[in-house]
Amino acid sequence: MIQIQNFINGEFRQPLGLKYIDNFEPATGKVFSQVPQSTVADVGLAVESAKAAAPAWAACSPDERANYLSSIAAFIRDGAEEFAQAESQDNGKPLSLARGVDIPRSALNFEFFAAAARTKSSESHHGEGAINLTRRDPLGVVACISPWNLPLYLLTWKIAPALAAGNTVVAKPSELTPYTAFLLGNAFKVAGLPPGVVNLVHGYGAEAGAPLCEHPDVKAISFTGGTATGRGIALSVASQFKKVSLEMGGKNANIVFADCDFDEAVHTSVRAAFANQGQICLCGSRILVESEIYEQFRDRFVQLVSELRVGDPLRAETDQGALVSKAHYQKVLTAIAAAEQEGGRVLCGGRSVPGDGRCEGGWFVAPTVIEGLGPQARTNQEEIFGPVVTLIPFEDEAEALEIANGTNYGLAASLWTQDLNRAHRLSAKLDAGIVWVNTWMNRDLRTPFGGMKESGLGREGGWEALRFFTEAKNICISY
Ligand code: NAD
Repeated sequence: MIQIQNFINGEFRQPLGLKYIDNFEPATGKVFSQVPQSTVADVGLAVESAKAAAPAWAACSPDERANYLSSIAAFIRDGAEEFAQAESQDNGKPLSLARGVDIPRSALNFEFFAAAARTKSSESHHGEGAINLTRRDPLGVVACISPWNLPLYLLTWKIAPALAAGNTVVAKPSELTPYTAFLLGNAFKVAGLPPGVVNLVHGYGAEAGAPLCEHPDVKAISFTGGTATGRGIALSVASQFKKVSLEMGGKNANIVFADCDFDEAVHTSVRAAFANQGQICLCGSRILVESEIYEQFRDRFVQLVSELRVGDPLRAETDQGALVSKAHYQKVLTAIAAAEQEGGRVLCGGRSVPGDGRCEGGWFVAPTVIEGLGPQARTNQEEIFGPVVTLIPFEDEAEALEIANGTNYGLAASLWTQDLNRAHRLSAKLDAGIVWVNTWMNRDLRTPFGGMKESGLGREGGWEALRFFTEAKNICISY
């Protein structure tokens, strides 16, 4: 049994209360590790150590900080196979996905922000008889709170810019997927990161995450997770006027026009719908199709989805692994039943898939496609965050836009069309922080990343992240 530990002040530590939570392997349904059930006392220790480390870290030159980040990236690259196996075991995602996306991207996050630390420059504005210098100083101790769907990828996406900007960090990974964060502690040790610069505290959101957010010495919170959790965090720290960056849920529209490159659109729509078992905040879960090609698209889409292989994440041929937890698996099956109850027709999937061999007790759900529901149906309004998508026909651009924008969410959207004017027109009007035209999940780490409406507050990525993790001060010097 793997015993995961907190990482505080440069050392692996047991939780002070010596209590642990069972951590399950989604593909088998069996417990394979123990996660510290940290509480306010552990959080207090971690914040104290981050606070003590803050002045020296802030005083490091950008080059020094960048060197540490590069060493952490190198550790991840060198140990990529171990990280990938851990991520797949902990999350249920196909090993091939962890190898191809999660782990390389986690290393890249550190490399990218190492380069950002090296190249970041301050601004100056020359006015009449005065020059303005803008300093962007570190905030001090910041909290990074991450979800279970892309565990190491999203954790490092926060830690790396926080460090590059000169802050010290207390991070709280998801209690469902703590394993790769635990391994990351070794990267900090091997890189020789000064004790206290990054601390990892594991445990439940209410017991470890909430006291971390509310701690008076924590100056900013970078959170990725569900909208309800994000709302609760924002409310709980409002009176302290903390900076918060919230990356939350989505119900993203994938809009397919009749003039699209059909093959490309249908293949990428399958990936956009079901990558990581549909558990990516950017997944296109509402597929809007122009009536003219609705049937043709539907039939080809369903055919391709039916060919996806669900099963043991360790098998090279597996396209879809297990869902992250029993509770989530049940939630997804309940959502499918609710969709049928409100009149949806299940075109494929719609059921759990029994695992075989070692995966007998695993939490597998067949990729599911549903049609026949109006845009206002619950299934088309609420995030399911699993392998379930709906198909919705539309008549023209105006209707597509109305349906796409007709939810409380506003994270991402994809457009499939060969008409450049239409692409520009619609991109400008879509309520989404990220619009992809004839592509999906095409990420340039320099670009703003985040959502509008109930999907997010603030943006991550590139300079946006560095701005978030710094306090601007303008100094006006008259001459
Ligand atoms: P969640 O909100 O349940 O948990 C996210 C993290 O917050 C976990 O570490 C959890 O322990 C912690 N947490 C829970 N309650 C807390 C509290 N009161 N105070 C502080 N921390 C608390 O989300 P999840 O189920 O882990 O992740 C799935 C959700 O994340 C989906 O809604 C998905 O859309 C969203 N997500 C969004 C993005 C994005 O970039 N917008 C990316 C990935 C996932």
